[in-house]
Amino acid sequence: MSTIEIRKLTKKFGDFVAVRDADLSVAAGEVVCLLGPSGCGKTTTLRMIAGLERATAGDVVIAGQRMNDLSPEKRNIAMVFQFYALYPALTVGQNIAMPLHYEKVGKAEMETRVNKVADILHLREVLDRLPGQISEGEKQRIAVARAIVRDPNCFLFDEPLSRLDVELRHSMRGQIKGVLSNLSKATVIVTHDQLEALTMADRIAIMRDGLIEQVGSPHEVFAKPANVFVASFIGTPQMNLIEAQFKGYNNGKAKVVFDQQDVDLSVDPAVANLAPGKVTVGVRPRAFTVVSQDTQDTIEALAELIEPMGAETLIHARTNTGSDIRVVVARHNRVKTGEVLHLIPDRAQTHVFAEDGRAVRA
Ligand code: ATP
Repeated sequence: MSTIEIRKLTKKFGDFVAVRDADLSVAAGEVVCLLGPSGCGKTTTLRMIAGLERATAGDVVIAGQRMNDLSPEKRNIAMVFQFYALYPALTVGQNIAMPLHYEKVGKAEMETRVNKVADILHLREVLDRLPGQISEGEKQRIAVARAIVRDPNCFLFDEPLSRLDVELRHSMRGQIKGVLSNLSKATVIVTHDQLEALTMADRIAIMRDGLIEQVGSPHEVFAKPANVFVASFIGTPQMNLIEAQFKGYNNGKAKVVFDQQDVDLSVDPAVANLAPGKVTVGVRPRAFTVVSQDTQDTIEALAELIEPMGAETLIHARTNTGSDIRVVVARHNRVKTGEVLHLIPDRAQTHVFAEDGRAVRA
């Protein structure tokens, strides 16, 4: 079975801990993205799986076999890097066949396998061309073709699409995902692009400062972020994170005070178990209803900047004690700069984070 498992994987560079106690299992046929800001330890984790970096502690298990002491070649992994080097004097077909030369595959079988992956990646037409005579998207597909032409245990991708322009990236995401979903191999993709992770991954592992903060499906990490960091990292525009005071739970209603405004956020019974005190309330910009009149449970904010975004409009607003709030409304909702907005957060989409940053949930 093509599976990848890392257990308590740790990497230190001198005193600096680049990856700490990382645990992750990737099933056969599953695509897991390592996602996080620059320097959080994604590439180091991938390199330890590949054997390009020696783990300080912990285990790498591929297809059920502990790999810690095996060199990269012996791990039978296919890696696709951001910078794919193609041999300029060889045709596309010869470039794709290159890994098979090392494996001493016979000529007839080599041709069959190259043609097969060329069909999968729509490269049949360009097999006889040189790398200088093809597009960037085709070059990227050759890098993938070279990886799948062998029969590796699993695939590792390091920022595979970051060199492509936005449009091409968009179409390549779908194409690579389509190819991977037919191969039944465990795949790990490193990216700092959340859209890439949200569209390509079956599950996302979100990292910060060497730690895996949350592992979950794209929907889970978006809808149920484990902590303030994940909440702020996933979703565009960013989730509003508003400092507030949780006053306690009374008659089925949790009272939360934003600045000086009392708001009832009584949806999540788990909040009942929280001691009164400082909390952070998270509301996504699309989870507000703008009403014209102040009612009891609205947040008041002054619209300071209006940004048209096509079908929607992004409003930057400010509460009377200076908290910034981003609100996205449909374009026909004509809010003007200087207008006082009365905002009702959608209770079902309101997150409460305790003082230590962890989400409070039932
Ligand atoms: P990016 O998205 O920028 O590539 P990343 O999440 O992949 O970032 P890593 O490349 O894994 O991050 O690096 C994690 C941390 O380890 C960084 O602070 C980096 O400076 C440090 N680091 C990486 N390689 C080495 C090394 N060989 N020696 C010392 N420190 C290193």
